[in-house]
Amino acid sequence: MAIDKRKNKLQVLKKILLAILITIVAVFLIRYYFKHYYVVESINTPIVWDDDEIPTDEDDELSTNENGTSNVEGILYVHMIDCGQGDSFLFEQNGKYGLIDCGTRSTGKDVVYYLQKQGVSKLQFIVGTHQHDDHIGGMYDVLNSFKCEKVYLPDENGLATSQWYMKLLNKIKEDNIKLVNPKVNTKFKLGDAVFRVVGQLSSEAAGSNLNEYSTVIKVSFGEMDILMTGDAESKAEKAMLENSKISLECEILKLGHHGSNTSTSEKFLDEVNPEYGLISCETGNSYAHPSTETMKNLKKRKVKVYRTDEQGDIVLTVTSDSVSFNKKPGDYKDGVSLAKN
Ligand SMILES: [Zn+2]
Repeated sequence: MAIDKRKNKLQVLKKILLAILITIVAVFLIRYYFKHYYVVESINTPIVWDDDEIPTDEDDELSTNENGTSNVEGILYVHMIDCGQGDSFLFEQNGKYGLIDCGTRSTGKDVVYYLQKQGVSKLQFIVGTHQHDDHIGGMYDVLNSFKCEKVYLPDENGLATSQWYMKLLNKIKEDNIKLVNPKVNTKFKLGDAVFRVVGQLSSEAAGSNLNEYSTVIKVSFGEMDILMTGDAESKAEKAMLENSKISLECEILKLGHHGSNTSTSEKFLDEVNPEYGLISCETGNSYAHPSTETMKNLKKRKVKVYRTDEQGDIVLTVTSDSVSFNKKPGDYKDGVSLAKN
């Protein structure tokens, strides 16, 4: 009798353990499915072009006067927001605001707080350079906190399907925000500052690397130009070098991919020929950004470097023919040596 009872108990225990195991596996599989494969039915938000956004080769005001140099007024402020291992840049011109990238899902709240401190209530636009967490992870928080007219996001041909991204697309649709897939030559303005897409690979050209989908924008204010590269890597840089009808020369370069050696090739750096380099990354990041090679190349060319990992938030004050910074230039230390400290 005692042995039978023990056997029964053992069998019940086995069944309970099996049930627990099956539940764990099922929960894991469901989570995995939703994270990687679940596609919300309504993600196909129609893309609407504004007249001033339709790519055109026409000899318009901007191409006859490529940099939009005519009569800019006031100041363009560019805020490099320290958002850890990510990018977020706030542009402010004549009381209007636009944002390029929004930090990560965990630092989106810091970006929101920074914008609130600046008195932002509405954004004319947000550009998400590409569908990685460290650039658009914080966009949901930003959209939850500020009105926004338009969101620019590259068409990555359905490569990004994570649950948080689908939630973001639904948010954009529910809030009736105009969603635009930028193309080379798409342009828009913020006060007198002109934003013009100079790099945008097609899905055929970009392949499976989301970084190569990065929308690259030349921001022009009077004589001053800033190149915002997202995480564009060598393919995107090569395409710009070969095909760009617009000069890539800029006083200020936001270095691609947090100063990684997969971006900012020497040829590209020579073509852009910047006086100032902006790097957004986190101290001691696991990617060892910025790379030794990139920092050497910047030093060799005497490019003055401003970096969020060592200097925190940085503000650029851009007039029609000058730029000043609220911090002194940073050093040329690479991510490897900083990670060791
Ligand atoms: Zn990135």
